[in-house]
Amino acid sequence: MREVRIRDTLSGELRALPTGDEVGIYACGPTVYSRIHIGNARPFVIFMLLARFLRSEGYRAKLVINVTDINDKIYDAAKEAAEPSEEFAERMTAAYFEDTGDLGLGRPDAEPLASETIEGIVGLIEDLVASGHAYESGGDVYFRVRSFDAYGKLSNRPTEDMDQGEEAGSASLKEDPLDFALWKAHKEGEDSSWGSPWGQGRPGWHIECSAMAEAELGPSFAVHGGGSDLVFPHHENEIAQSEAAGRPFAQVWMHNGMIQKGEGKMSKSEGNIFQLSEALDRYGREAVVDYLISGHYRQPLAFGAEQMEQAVARVERLRNFFRGHGGREPGGPPGSRIEAFREALADDFNTPRAMAEVFELVGEANRGEVPGAAEAVEEMLGLVGLGSLAEVEAGAGGKAEVLLAEREQARAAKDFDRADEIRDELAALGWEVRDSASGAKLVPKS
Ligand SMILES: [Zn+2]
Repeated sequence: MREVRIRDTLSGELRALPTGDEVGIYACGPTVYSRIHIGNARPFVIFMLLARFLRSEGYRAKLVINVTDINDKIYDAAKEAAEPSEEFAERMTAAYFEDTGDLGLGRPDAEPLASETIEGIVGLIEDLVASGHAYESGGDVYFRVRSFDAYGKLSNRPTEDMDQGEEAGSASLKEDPLDFALWKAHKEGEDSSWGSPWGQGRPGWHIECSAMAEAELGPSFAVHGGGSDLVFPHHENEIAQSEAAGRPFAQVWMHNGMIQKGEGKMSKSEGNIFQLSEALDRYGREAVVDYLISGHYRQPLAFGAEQMEQAVARVERLRNFFRGHGGREPGGPPGSRIEAFREALADDFNTPRAMAEVFELVGEANRGEVPGAAEAVEEMLGLVGLGSLAEVEAGAGGKAEVLLAEREQARAAKDFDRADEIRDELAALGWEVRDSASGAKLVPKS
């Protein structure tokens, strides 16, 4: 088992993940007020692939990605759609499952919904009220920020820059403008609410995640992740709530950079490819996954038609490699490449460095025979959810494969005229037939 190190946002240091215990990973999922966009897909892909890599190294990883289905934004969007908010949230949650399912990476181990964690949320707030870290005010409950000395340790910002971003109406109920809501009393116009010791209402966003993380992973777990836009106030507040309530909470904080949409670069005909479902339809899942791992997860990543076309070209290059290396050559995979690939992922999940190993090997093998190259490339791609690119071999184009099989039959029947005819038909389709000891292969005509 290799040591896997992740850059911890809180300490700024590389931290090794625990090798003996379960590696619990909690990543903040989407607030389901619209179809998700490519920016939401980045943490989904990064954390799904991190868990996949850890398992391949023998770690016991458990990945939790929640769904925030109770939130102000949902009430607003449901109203606009003239739909009850619970139905709207359910519909958007289903769309999120469908869109991320189309990425073809499987599902996280647990996907808790805020609306199904109310009991745990209320329990956590009760603990905070009992210990003096929270107070009830007008049916709301607020966290008393100054009661938690370590407040601000994650985002390292001066208190005067700490704007909780809460609605203006709540200011008069707070002891201190720094305080933030754990529970909000039911307001007119909101069509859903839950019971609590403080009356009907609903949880605040931050406490939802503290409670869902604890419900799935216990009071202490290895990695808490999410987009870098969540560092303040969301993750700062999660730390305050959970630690003030006596939970050790997360050991490592792992944040992905934002996707940056190029201004005015997208033409109208490109449609709204920023929406994940549209990007998947237009470019295919492999190109979308390849794009999302093309930069280091902590860095911002530029997004636009140009970047997506580059991703399409890269996956096409990989498909062509498998088309040209259909038969698996004997000789065993070049272990040093796979080793370097895994080492890159173990070093703060450096996917661009890992993919550079793939493309270097592809280049080498395209220049000359490298025994076991196809198997090695397939193994590496499998670790980042792109193993399906190796399947082109069988699907070199349905028609070409059928013709190749027919040609084999013709040759077996010593009907060489027909076999030659088929060779010409394949050539017209862009394929060259190469006969070898292990049978005929289709190679793209150069
Ligand atoms: Zn969260």
